[in-house]
Amino acid sequence: MTDQNDILFERARAVIPGGVNSPVRAFKAVGGTPRFIQRAQGAYFWDANDKRYIDYIGSWGPMILGHGHPAVVEAVQKAVLEGFSYGAPTEREIELAEAILALVPSMEMVRLVSSGTEAAMSALRLARGATGRKSIVKFEGCYHGHADALLVKAGSGLATFGNPTSAGVPPEVVQHTIVLEYNNLQQLEEAFALHGKDIACLMIEAIAGNMNFVRATPAFAKRCRELCTQHGALLIFDEVMTGFRVGLHGAQGVLGITPDLTVLGKVIGGGMPLAAFGGPRAIMEQLAPLGPVYQAGTLSGNPVATACGLATLKEISKPGFYEALAKKTRSLVDGLKAAAAAEDQPFNADSEGGMFGFFLMNELPQNYATVMTTDNAQFNALFHGLLDRGVYIAPALYEAGFVSAAHSDEDIAATVAAAREIFSKR
Ligand SMILES: *Cc1c(COP(=O)(O)O)cnc(C)c1O
Repeated sequence: MTDQNDILFERARAVIPGGVNSPVRAFKAVGGTPRFIQRAQGAYFWDANDKRYIDYIGSWGPMILGHGHPAVVEAVQKAVLEGFSYGAPTEREIELAEAILALVPSMEMVRLVSSGTEAAMSALRLARGATGRKSIVKFEGCYHGHADALLVKAGSGLATFGNPTSAGVPPEVVQHTIVLEYNNLQQLEEAFALHGKDIACLMIEAIAGNMNFVRATPAFAKRCRELCTQHGALLIFDEVMTGFRVGLHGAQGVLGITPDLTVLGKVIGGGMPLAAFGGPRAIMEQLAPLGPVYQAGTLSGNPVATACGLATLKEISKPGFYEALAKKTRSLVDGLKAAAAAEDQPFNADSEGGMFGFFLMNELPQNYATVMTTDNAQFNALFHGLLDRGVYIAPALYEAGFVSAAHSDEDIAATVAAAREIFSKR
């Protein structure tokens, strides 16, 4: 049979760079042909050959209810009939803002945007505008979207300013970005000792999902908060992935830390382009039209996207939602660990709420460098083995995984059985 994915990939590559609109979709790290998805329902999606997969990426986080949740579909269909976009304010934007603020107590005001990149970029500008400072701190392995100042890796030496990770980003644009190792207290202390009076903000994924799944240690997260307070810098939690994913109150709820600014995305749009950033009133009122920090968006607060987000938030706010989701995710992680142990494979895994990560090593990594010591060939064999067996995990070893409310015990058991079969052939 002709592989329809191959045919589509060839067509795509003729008109879209690499055949994809976001690089990780191209399967470059794992090899092979990306699957072109034609439809999705619940915990599954189907590719161009009509092959079904259990979906553990969930659009990289947003699909926390599974695909096509009836209440969300209904809300979106109703909204579409009322118009797609007005470029004028709506009541639904207030409702969504109120819903977000009720769930994230550190935020007193919020502004809606269309992507996580836009939200992180805007939060950064706001932090610089509100503090009148230039320097920003970020950590190796944390991803905050692709704004120029954030496409940066550590330079040589400790607590130094970074080097661009992308062509097209002049070194001057990242000269105020300090890149530190995640969970490295000594580097953190040093950076604030050296540059504290110039630091506008520290931005962090407090549970990182872009270097697989790595938690900030409680001591590290606490020290980030203390040093920001002490030096007059703003602490920004990028919760685009963790917000409404690791729990109803995000990573800040899990860690018990109050950031100054919070960046949200993914789940708050329920699969539609929607993101947000927010924090205390005094800081948020620095934004245009009230204050001097400019920020805008033609499709911001889009009426269809806000309907989708609101319906999603309503479902995940129901009592017991996260307990059930966390239990399900833990059963996957425990099942995979047991399967690896039974086959004598080096393996470890961790999860919080509906987000998980696994590692082909015995320890849980604390930083990006350790994650990247993963054996590529072993990961790729596991990825393709699962894919062949109808299980779709992230096609790169540095990405987290996601379980939705629609995944059944049978789905989890089938996934664990598939993994064990692959492990047994090593
Ligand atoms: C996905 C992600 C972003 C970027 O969001 P986009 O909507 O892809 O622009 C930013 N920060 C984190 C933590 C993310 O996971």
